[in-house]
Amino acid sequence: MILKTLQASLHYLVRQQSRYGADLTAITLQRLVYLAVLAVPVSALHILFFAQFEANSDAEDLWRTSIMAVHTGLIIVIAALGFSAFRLLKAPDSNAAGLVVLLSLAAVLSMGISLTAFDQLVTPAVTPFLVVCTIVGAVFLLSPFASLIFFPAAFIAFYLALGQTQPDATILLSNRVNGMTATGIGLGLSLMLWHTKITHLQQARKIASQKKALELSNHKLRELATHDELTGLANRRSFDTLIRDEIALMKRNSSEACLLMLDLDHFKQVNDIHGHLAGDELLKELAALLTASVRATDLVGRWGGEEFVILLRDTGEAGAREVAENLRRKVAEHAFAVTGKAGSDTAASDEPLKLTASIGIASLDPSSPDAIQLAYSQADRAMYAAKAAGRNTVISETIATESGR
Ligand code: GH3
Ligand code: MG
Ligand code: MG
Repeated sequence: MILKTLQASLHYLVRQQSRYGADLTAITLQRLVYLAVLAVPVSALHILFFAQFEANSDAEDLWRTSIMAVHTGLIIVIAALGFSAFRLLKAPDSNAAGLVVLLSLAAVLSMGISLTAFDQLVTPAVTPFLVVCTIVGAVFLLSPFASLIFFPAAFIAFYLALGQTQPDATILLSNRVNGMTATGIGLGLSLMLWHTKITHLQQARKIASQKKALELSNHKLRELATHDELTGLANRRSFDTLIRDEIALMKRNSSEACLLMLDLDHFKQVNDIHGHLAGDELLKELAALLTASVRATDLVGRWGGEEFVILLRDTGEAGAREVAENLRRKVAEHAFAVTGKAGSDTAASDEPLKLTASIGIASLDPSSPDAIQLAYSQADRAMYAAKAAGRNTVISETIATESGR
């Protein structure tokens, strides 16, 4: 039971560290930059204070020079490592980042240990070691495995170093015990902050992925609201908006535009013979054909069923007739592929299918207050006139009106 819990905890630690290790290293690098910016002037101040100090004994003199030497070394090392961390934040390199973190850790801990050891020449305090244990615990986001190696190692080094400089056995014992407490505080901090940071990172990733999913579904919803699902063309609602925009533009630029209403001839029969699925595929193929056959600035929409609307921008009635005639011919000449069949007895043919369309044309009149509805009903009327004229025909609204159809 205990073994299983331990195994599960180990598994969790390894998984989290491998998942977020790179993020933790990047944050540690950022913190190392700040640490260097702080540590360099603080160490420089230490040197300044100790330079003023007049030693009264050999021990004090040794203490003074040693402390100044340690701080000088620290300034050089931590400045170089801080600068490397800064560079690595701009050009990440995981191996180099790991090395910089490791060296900084070694530099900070050995500075704390040596300062405490040299302090023993004149004072029984272990403050520097306590300070560096706290700094390492709070600043370095070490993995629990690394913490469990580095803190005990630092304590062993501290234990041995103090033995070299503290001659009083009682103080030595007291300091070693205090050093153990400092190590425990650092280790505890390190483990706690690692766990807190991992939780933050997990939440941040979850939020980021939820945001992405939400954006995606919003995009899908927008697509569904404005586009026809089968053909991907603008649906009736968004086509209305596009025509409204075009009318506003026509008023400003005094330009012309026409609307085509296209309806497939005898499409019901096609469904009856080949099935609705095949019919759907044909509608998709037709949508692609229409889109490819008009200018990029023109707009093709699905009005509903097998009826399509096309807005021809900057096009007068004569131009619209040409486009409509061209579309009619292209549809009639196109060999549609029959790809599916319904569950009916009627077999789908491998032969390409021929279709025709009837097209009605209406000019857009931007001066009319009801320009959109007027254009739709005129184009629709013209399209029905084309049906009445025998289908596979183009008729413009003016002709439909003149012939009284
Ligand atoms: P007409 O030449 O008079 O237009 O004849 P038609 O058969 O095309 O006209 P009708 O309006 O009677 O029938 C339209 C048919 O279009 C009915 C329906 O089966 C088919 N249709 C409408 N929407 C879809 C669709 O989304 N998919 C499929 N497969 N068929 C559709
Ligand atoms: Mg129809
Ligand atoms: Mg039809």
